[in-house]
Amino acid sequence: MSEVIFRFYEELNDFLSPRRRKRDFQVGFKGRESVKDMIEALGAPHTEVDLILVNGKSVDFGYIIQNGDRISVYPTFESLDIKDVTRLREVPLRQTRFIADINIRDIVKYMRALGLDVYYDASLLPREIIRISKRENRTILTKSRKLLKFRDVTHGIFIRAGTTVEQIRGIIDYLSLREFIEPFSRCLQCNKPLVRVSKERILERIPPKTREFYDEYSYCKTCDRIYWKGTHYMKIKKVVDEILG
Ligand SMILES: [Zn+2]
Repeated sequence: MSEVIFRFYEELNDFLSPRRRKRDFQVGFKGRESVKDMIEALGAPHTEVDLILVNGKSVDFGYIIQNGDRISVYPTFESLDIKDVTRLREVPLRQTRFIADINIRDIVKYMRALGLDVYYDASLLPREIIRISKRENRTILTKSRKLLKFRDVTHGIFIRAGTTVEQIRGIIDYLSLREFIEPFSRCLQCNKPLVRVSKERILERIPPKTREFYDEYSYCKTCDRIYWKGTHYMKIKKVVDEILG
């Protein structure tokens, strides 16, 4: 039996059993084991890992661990000064787009309200989510660690427990997305960008009371929906302000 010593940093500790958090611990192993498989066996999805140091040198996921190795595992943490060492993937996707796993409908709705591009289809299977993620360079948002552990997954975010506001704020801060936020620029229903439309052009489609009170309207060409700043908007805006506050 061989042994290595692990230490996980920052929020990666959330994935470990309590007695292993924020300290060195020994792990035994037999035969050939990649560092990626060991990290995932300990509970951390590889998509959450940005840097692995073995005896002070950076290695990639395929590194085969050796008896006596001291392994430090760091999260995707932008403020960490790791310029001189190998990172496990390219810099974050330039134009950040997402695909959401099922069961996070509220996150999808409010992220779209912020103007962020979030693909969502409740009928997708995990393998289809991964396929679309790769094809369209979309970061996967999920509450399932299992999904993030698939070998093909390159960009993914594990949604931790919390309120919708906390969860979305977490994603925004994690990826430094504030400069890309443009509230109410995207269709909440189908995710396509909205266009401004003049009141005159859609007059016959607006209820009389609405016509009276509102002059600004947006339109989704894809699903033929009209948006204005009514009570529904006010409800969503309250949450949007809380997220950005
Ligand atoms: Zn639409």
